[in-house]
Amino acid sequence: MYSQNPVFIPGPTNMPEILRRAADMPTVDHRSSVFGQILRPALAGVKKVMKTESGEVFVFPSTGTGGWETAITNTLDPGSLVLAARHGMFSHRWIDLCRRHGLEVETVEGIWGAGVPVDRYEAILTADTAHRIKAVLVTHNETATGVRSDVAAVRRALDAARHPAMLLVDGVSSIASMDFRMDDWGVDVAVCGSQKGFMLPPGLAIVAFSPKAMAAAMRATLPRAFFDVRDMAKGYAAGGYPYTPPVGLLNGLKLATELLLSEGLETVFARHHRIAAGIRAAVAEWGLELCAVSEDLYSDTVSAIRTPEGFNATDIVTHAARKYDVAFGVGLGEVAGKVFRIGHLGSLTDVMALSGIATAEMAMVDLGLDIKLGAGVAAAQDHYRAASPAEIRVAA
Ligand SMILES: *Cc1c(COP(=O)(O)O)cnc(C)c1O
Repeated sequence: MYSQNPVFIPGPTNMPEILRRAADMPTVDHRSSVFGQILRPALAGVKKVMKTESGEVFVFPSTGTGGWETAITNTLDPGSLVLAARHGMFSHRWIDLCRRHGLEVETVEGIWGAGVPVDRYEAILTADTAHRIKAVLVTHNETATGVRSDVAAVRRALDAARHPAMLLVDGVSSIASMDFRMDDWGVDVAVCGSQKGFMLPPGLAIVAFSPKAMAAAMRATLPRAFFDVRDMAKGYAAGGYPYTPPVGLLNGLKLATELLLSEGLETVFARHHRIAAGIRAAVAEWGLELCAVSEDLYSDTVSAIRTPEGFNATDIVTHAARKYDVAFGVGLGEVAGKVFRIGHLGSLTDVMALSGIATAEMAMVDLGLDIKLGAGVAAAQDHYRAASPAEIRVAA
């Protein structure tokens, strides 16, 4: 079935028609100079989106998960110790991936709904005077719980402890929709994918390595082949790939970065903040609470909404799909059945958000929750009327 409804899952996100068309290309010889005209601006565009000048960007045919694997296998050795926090499904899965690669993980257990515990990190790093910890992992935006962590504060904790560990950051559901500053925050490896903030089909792992991470990549001894950034760097220097690149997706990535940069990154972030605030206004009007435990943690790209005790939150998602043909996100792991998620990253406008709020509202009323039809929509409308820019810029 073909649906024209927007999706409200936190990835894959809605694809602007212009990006779908850009990704759909006739065969191009990836060893020709034509390919270089796609690759070079795509890489340069990603650098700007990630706010890095000194970092090197690599794009692998893969997904965000492959980006995690790229980050660790290129910078660490078998048995290396890494510090991580488990506070949602994605941080949990990154820890699992590390263990399966033979890393030792010092795991700080957090509540699902809290952010990365910066104070605990600082205490652990300060106590690690032998510098056994080689890398610190941060999930910038926990997509399972709708929680944004403070990456800059983790950098300050590392610096305060005078600890040389690398800072590896999962920005899969934040980059290109929420502010991300690779250089300012001293991020050593940033990980993203194509199907979230970049508004493309799934299929690309997009990573950036700092000079320090590149130096580590020359020495690291974890096995890697497909994801070896040394091979990729050699390929890029010669204008190509060590294997067949997904040319259409890369052409999409080139255009996606152009769209983001022409809208203006700060405008993009402001748009997501405004959309998210409207959704949060609706949630408050419904008398429901977010999974995120405090306001400073609220994500501007996904809201995980707690439903009343005894109610299965997944029913909302199932019902909205079946009756209204609109996709919301289910709760994952520890919060399965307790929350449903509204994804609001990537290509989205205030008006699209209103349709998602209205649909969630219909589904909840259908299922007997004590919510008045239109209440959340009205709260969001009030917010958007007050907060929307007076003029919309049309991309040329
Ligand atoms: C989606 C997501 C991933 C996994 O990415 P895939 O592209 O599904 O492999 C990892 N981390 C976060 C925070 C995500 O939102």
